[in-house]
Amino acid sequence: MSKIDTLCVHAGYTPKKGEPRQIPIIQSTTFKYETSDQMGRLFDLEESGYFYTRLQNPTNDAVAARIAALEGGIGAVLTSSGQAANLFACLNICEAGDHIVSLNNIYGGTVNLLGVTLPKMGIEVTFVNHDSTDEEIEAAFRPGTKLVFGETISNPGVEVLDIERFARIAHSHGVPLVVDNTFATPVHCRPFEWGADIVTHSTTKYIDGHGVSVGGCIVDSGNFDWNAHADKFPGLCTPDESYHGLIYTERFGKAAFITKAVTHLMRDLGSIQSPQNAFYLNLGLQTLHLRIRRVSDSALKVASFLQNHPAVAWVHYPDLPGDSQHEKQLKYLPEGSCGVMCLGLKGGREFDNRFMDALRLITIETHVADCYSCILHPASHTHRQLSDEQLRAAGIAPDLMRLSIGLEDPEDIITDIANALDSASK
Ligand SMILES: *Cc1c(COP(=O)(O)O)cnc(C)c1O
Repeated sequence: MSKIDTLCVHAGYTPKKGEPRQIPIIQSTTFKYETSDQMGRLFDLEESGYFYTRLQNPTNDAVAARIAALEGGIGAVLTSSGQAANLFACLNICEAGDHIVSLNNIYGGTVNLLGVTLPKMGIEVTFVNHDSTDEEIEAAFRPGTKLVFGETISNPGVEVLDIERFARIAHSHGVPLVVDNTFATPVHCRPFEWGADIVTHSTTKYIDGHGVSVGGCIVDSGNFDWNAHADKFPGLCTPDESYHGLIYTERFGKAAFITKAVTHLMRDLGSIQSPQNAFYLNLGLQTLHLRIRRVSDSALKVASFLQNHPAVAWVHYPDLPGDSQHEKQLKYLPEGSCGVMCLGLKGGREFDNRFMDALRLITIETHVADCYSCILHPASHTHRQLSDEQLRAAGIAPDLMRLSIGLEDPEDIITDIANALDSASK
């Protein structure tokens, strides 16, 4: 098998004689067939082929295949956003009456999805802490638990998931581990190698990497044996009446999960990525390996600088020796984590605001994880309606700033921070 850098450039698309060198944009809703019978067989899933872009499109499939190859999975589907990827990963397994065990340090949008919106659809969620004991995590399971959910590197806290431990616990309860691998990217961590069963991405972040297009992806390892726990997964292991009683695990074997995500969820719920956006996404993928290494190297330089600055109260970056996440970083992300870190300044909220206003290169943005360095202060921005006590109750330190390092020269980034700290101190 080719190495990861080669896969970023080539996997999933091999043009034949006279075909486009680059993955082409197939901007077409439908595809032509010769006979009524041919079309009928496609609708019965007896033959594979393109017929309508809500289900499948050649541009999207080539890009999804590239991400599947990078993750070491057997198949993938692109979605319209990272939110849609996580929603569909859950809905492909769970239905009303079911239950999910999730890490509580995950992205705020996913906390809302799992904690507020899924319960309205009859799917309940229990949140657990990443450093809880096995016994505490086991206690969250119910007979109706159908999956465990976590993030390889949590957003915004940059805590590293002990994937092996959570996979072991999930599997001992007969359910899969779903891991959102957005911040790590498959270049720095491939959760399937550590026992995860399904991977999701917000491709809006590093995979796109240029702040161009919102998108997501679901990848199937093909490793989870749904039939071994058939009673838990009727959607995958019992007849689907909307396809004349077809059973996904019988017909598609290892590809049951990802085939159902396309033929059932995409058919009924939509949320596809446009071929144009998939094309942009692929341009990002082709340099992902170069960019994720560069932002990690730069982030370590910036974190080391911050650690030694008298105005800085604390810095949290997994790659810093002595960080609470460093041991797990060395195990799961040995070549580096990502470009995101958290820090707190000593001067209080007014000082924080003077500091951010004095930054010239680093921009104030809600986005993270692309080519531009940016900063966000939840207490002043996304969570500004909360008091300091309410912030702490939500697990967010009032002084926490999330800093995302981009592709600029790290010396320029450090100079910008040093100048802003100086001018805020005056
Ligand atoms: C941004 C993000 C999401 C949501 O993705 P969108 O593409 O914005 O819908 C999900 N998970 C993580 C870890 C994220 O950072």
